[in-house]
Amino acid sequence: MIADYSQFPRVDRLLAMPALEVFSEQLGRSVVLDQVRETLAAYRRELAAEQRQQAPTEQEAAARAAQACSLLLRKRLEVVINATGVILHTNLGRAPLSEAAVQRLAAVSANYAAIELDLESGKRGRRGAFVEEALVKLLGVEAALVVNNCAASTLLMLSALARGKRVIISRGELVEIGGGFRVPDVLRESGAELVEVGTTNKTRLADYERALDQAGDGALILRVHPGNFQQTGFVERPSLSQLAELAQRRGVLLLKDLGGGALVDLGPTGFVGEPLAPAVVASGVDVVTFSTDKVLGGPQGGVAAGKRSLIEKLRSHPLHRALRLGRLPTVALEATLEAYLRGTAFSEVPALSLIATPVEQLAARVQGWTEALADFDGLVSAVPTLTEMGGGSLAGRTIASAGLRVRGKAFSADELLTTLRRGKPAVLGRIQEDAVILDARTVFPRQDEQLVLALRSALRQVSRLPDQR
Ligand SMILES: *Cc1c(COP(=O)(O)O)cnc(C)c1O
Repeated sequence: MIADYSQFPRVDRLLAMPALEVFSEQLGRSVVLDQVRETLAAYRRELAAEQRQQAPTEQEAAARAAQACSLLLRKRLEVVINATGVILHTNLGRAPLSEAAVQRLAAVSANYAAIELDLESGKRGRRGAFVEEALVKLLGVEAALVVNNCAASTLLMLSALARGKRVIISRGELVEIGGGFRVPDVLRESGAELVEVGTTNKTRLADYERALDQAGDGALILRVHPGNFQQTGFVERPSLSQLAELAQRRGVLLLKDLGGGALVDLGPTGFVGEPLAPAVVASGVDVVTFSTDKVLGGPQGGVAAGKRSLIEKLRSHPLHRALRLGRLPTVALEATLEAYLRGTAFSEVPALSLIATPVEQLAARVQGWTEALADFDGLVSAVPTLTEMGGGSLAGRTIASAGLRVRGKAFSADELLTTLRRGKPAVLGRIQEDAVILDARTVFPRQDEQLVLALRSALRQVSRLPDQR
């Protein structure tokens, strides 16, 4: 059968339809035109392949093109409600910024700012000068440098200090950090020669000593914090201070890729075992690198801190310019570090205040959610849950939290989770024992009402009830 193309919707008529006009206002006519053409081409292909028998109506074609426009808009950074309970969710941007950081961003970003101008002297200033001084104070180091992320600070550290050298590293630390950042690859990329010592589970001080004996001049020791997995059982590694003592005795550098960047003890929150960046410095490493958007709770960034002469080598390395921190994260990081200087990080920095919220407070809020959903009787119940840090930190460790368990006969947990994710705002939860769990620890109290509305709408959809939202 040959389709009747004279009945085919016309591009100009579709563009003028209200369903698509709204998108023209937002995305511009040319983008919407592309989506309309692509939609019509798809219909033609389907007709040719006999997947459909008739040309679409104008309404049908406009709705499909509008859906394509809407999907395009959804590729932007949409605000979501994180009900996964994972504090530093890498796919959700890790740490949300503090109120003070957001205000500073708004005030600075719409204006010119003296990012590389010293206003006192009128001479060229140093990008990130305040951030560096704050880190020097908070870490107790001689010097610090901030770049685009921790992968960058580690690459810069190794490129500036390990090129052409033998880098001694435990086989238990040849890890993949995530997003394909693999320690052996980074070492190779920075022109270092990898010398593996010990085994996956056990590496002793004597292993490092032997490697140093054989490596001759131009060796150094690299330690990587394997924060995104846990080794238990028959496991042994020398302490950082033992390694530092060895490095000093043999006149070689000890470098540490730390990852998390905790500046304050998380112990009171229940998250025990995350190494503190100042303690790592104090144990005698020469340079340490860590992320500013992991446990530290700031914007994306990577710190390298340690001996002044070494940090200056990083600063003058050609890669530094390519990896430097942007203006906006610099502003946000300044404001985040100010909270640490004031000693108010636990109340101001969201990543920390979320983990410090008492579980009773979370349980009370979840109780409120269940009451607001009382008409979905039998589908929702308050449950105790466990949440994790995420972002490659404190793998396997959890703290107590409270959540909502949602389960019904008319829908699968998968179906509900997908519906919530596709909603507006998107709500992200997790599945546990065939039920959807929405964890309160990572939901900001200001989002409670939105969460309840989104859940009502999703439950109506999956239960095939009319949406009365
Ligand atoms: C997370 C992590 C990195 C990478 O940090 P980004 O900020 O994501 O670039 C590097 N090393 C370690 C040990 C990490 O945990």
